[in-house]
Amino acid sequence: MKKDDLIEIVIEDLGVDGEGIGKTDGITFFVKDTVIGDRVEAKIMKMKKTYGYARLMRILEPSPARVEPRCAYARQCGGCQLQAMSYEAQLAYKVNKVWNHLTRIGGLTGLPKPEILGMEDPWRYRNKAQFPFGTDKDGHAVTGFYAARSHRIVPCTECWLGVEENRPILEKILNHMEKRRIPAYEEESGKGLVRHVLIRKGFSTGEIMVCLVLNGRTLPGLSALTASLKQVEGMTSISINVNQKNTNVIMGREMIPVWGKDYITDRIGEISYQISPLSFFQVNPVQTRKLYETALEYADLKGEETVWDLYCGIGTISLFLAQKAGRVYGVEIVPEAIEDARRNAALNGFSNVEFYVGKAEEVLPEKYRSEGIRADVIVVDPPRKGCDAACLETMVKMQPERIVYVSCDSATLARDLKYLCSEGYEVKKVKACDMFPGTVHVETVVLLTHKSPDSHIDVK
Ligand code: SAH
Repeated sequence: MKKDDLIEIVIEDLGVDGEGIGKTDGITFFVKDTVIGDRVEAKIMKMKKTYGYARLMRILEPSPARVEPRCAYARQCGGCQLQAMSYEAQLAYKVNKVWNHLTRIGGLTGLPKPEILGMEDPWRYRNKAQFPFGTDKDGHAVTGFYAARSHRIVPCTECWLGVEENRPILEKILNHMEKRRIPAYEEESGKGLVRHVLIRKGFSTGEIMVCLVLNGRTLPGLSALTASLKQVEGMTSISINVNQKNTNVIMGREMIPVWGKDYITDRIGEISYQISPLSFFQVNPVQTRKLYETALEYADLKGEETVWDLYCGIGTISLFLAQKAGRVYGVEIVPEAIEDARRNAALNGFSNVEFYVGKAEEVLPEKYRSEGIRADVIVVDPPRKGCDAACLETMVKMQPERIVYVSCDSATLARDLKYLCSEGYEVKKVKACDMFPGTVHVETVVLLTHKSPDSHIDVK
């Protein structure tokens, strides 16, 4: 088999980026834009010793899970790797992915396939959108998404994952740029003004925020644009973010308020959060609530417990736990996130939460050594790479009755569970949660408890 050969292949699995995987003559091929169960004709693009990459040419027999993507740009954009799969099949794929990782990497035996919390309506779930701006070949300002592996903008003001208000807001900005001849930013030359537009919506309050990311500090005709944007129902905050650096990072550090408040408010469950353009906030609030309720249920708090929430971000989970715990301590590496966490704790009237800035793997061991801190429950929600070894070791030394592990990467979750299970803990419950329908991502919540009340004697 060599480059440009046509092969026939049945897709049996999906890779980490959603590309189809199948075998022919003992060689594994990766074929983008296919779905598990498809029989396809593909053209070999690249051959390695034991595997190759092929391009989808023709679907010979579609998978029963195959559906027509709702978005006309699904294949070009690549943001939704699973849009050609029915939602039921997406959920089944995610359950299998989690189960496979926990079984194969985590070595958990006898684990039943976990339940997954899916969405009733898996569209328009994102409360945040960041649209890049550019110029088309006729010199008109455009916005949309970057074509795969490039910074060429494919014009598109409608994304089915985002809120309906995105489109009128973007059109108003494009019209204004056209009328006033305002140039979009150009990465190569560093010239031009409008780089990105950030739009956020509070799903429970209906409040909308627009933040113009500019290569400058103001925009010609800003008051006219503001007057027009104010007409969008729910608009409560308009601001400028200054980013004059030649970088891929979307937002700069300086904010200039233009109109309204400099934040929007949203609620998850009973708790309110103030969200500014630079704050981190979970993008799917409907599923976030289900995820945090599961974490809270697993923590099984009675009211007196001491709880540590590691990798706490803006304290979203910490405040959820603080409703039921005696005392909650949050640890997070980003100082601005901790500022938000403290403000949100005060906003909701919590006096039983305390936050520390620093690395979980440094703060926890240090506090354990110097103050002998203890915990009834430890909750962790680390980034994709999972928990640091020093953090896990201290957790084991602290001997909490329960550990609740919230994870956005089931492979590193499985690695960490293997360690915790070798150190006296056992996995009691596992639930997956679909925070990002249409994509390959899946969140998992795991409850671990002590194997026996005496086992802590054996742990060094
Ligand atoms: N629990 C939060 C955020 C989870 S995302 C929520 O649900 O909103 C993971 C968080 O871990 C991020 O905020 C990231 O800044 C933080 N982080 C990354 N590495 C860290 C480390 N070594 N120690 C502490 N926090 C870290």
